[in-house]
Amino acid sequence: MITGSTRVAGVIGSPVRHSLSPVMHNAAFAAGGLDWVYAAFEVMPGGAAGALAGMRVLGIGGLSVTMPHKDDAAAAVDTLDAAAAALGTINTVVLQPDGRLAGYSTDGAGFVASLRDAGVDPAGLRVAVLGAGGAARAVIDALARAGAAELVVINRSGDRAELAARLGGAVAHRGEMGDIAGVDMVVNATSIGMGTDLEPCDVALLHSGQVVADLVYHPLQTALLRAATAVGAVTVDGLGMLVHQAVLQQQLWTGVRPDPAVMRSAAEKELAARHR
Ligand code: NAP
Repeated sequence: MITGSTRVAGVIGSPVRHSLSPVMHNAAFAAGGLDWVYAAFEVMPGGAAGALAGMRVLGIGGLSVTMPHKDDAAAAVDTLDAAAAALGTINTVVLQPDGRLAGYSTDGAGFVASLRDAGVDPAGLRVAVLGAGGAARAVIDALARAGAAELVVINRSGDRAELAARLGGAVAHRGEMGDIAGVDMVVNATSIGMGTDLEPCDVALLHSGQVVADLVYHPLQTALLRAATAVGAVTVDGLGMLVHQAVLQQQLWTGVRPDPAVMRSAAEKELAARHR
């Protein structure tokens, strides 16, 4: 029940009505007995700074930030965590007791947490990252921090691959599709496979002993993950990252770590309802 003391959190983005964040966060607030509620705010491009000013005035405790506001919001907060400072983008804002706004990027750490959930430790692994957009950049930064031995960035636009690889420091470099056969882990961070049966690489290069992770979560079992399963590779689906970046957000807002299983179950139910 929403009362006068209920704390408010939400997501700003455009478009934002399709976001799974409200069902995940509200399910975890309810399961944890927290007097918080989470809403979706459609904020037009260019509106991030105004939204964050409103957050401060209204005392909104936490915000998720999605496209197209991740860069503008990073410029509008008072402090950035290490990942956000490296990427120049944020996906999370915390209103601190002193009224300052702290910005965080939990996407990369969420991805690494999803690997650990699947029993995969990225430390020492040679990894091919497909893609060089916002999601790929977060993954590259986080895998370098987690101790990956080599990061091979493969992207349609080679100049974007070069730029993204800089986030991984000395262990990262631009690569080619053929490099996939020689790595321990392949991560699809392109949008290929979202809502389609397309594969982001030549799946004949995949083999057993590899880990194959897909950031795409609709469908949950993408064509890439099905091909990886068929050759005996370990697979990690994209819902794990979505859940764990939200787990980290909620922990930052409330100080309480929510149950990832509650968030995942809420997201799976919502996806099933939408695509029935
Ligand atoms: P983005 O910034 O738009 O980047 C898209 C990437 O996909 C770029 O590297 C782009 O290559 C590549 N790409 C797109 N279409 C292509 C095609 N036809 N052929 C070859 N490459 C193509 O998007 P993003 O924000 O990084 O998101 C990427 C994917 O990750 C999306 O599907 C998104 O839903 C998913 N994602 C999942 C999570 C999660 O929590 N699971 C979080 C964030 C994002 P170019 O550079 O050459 O254009």
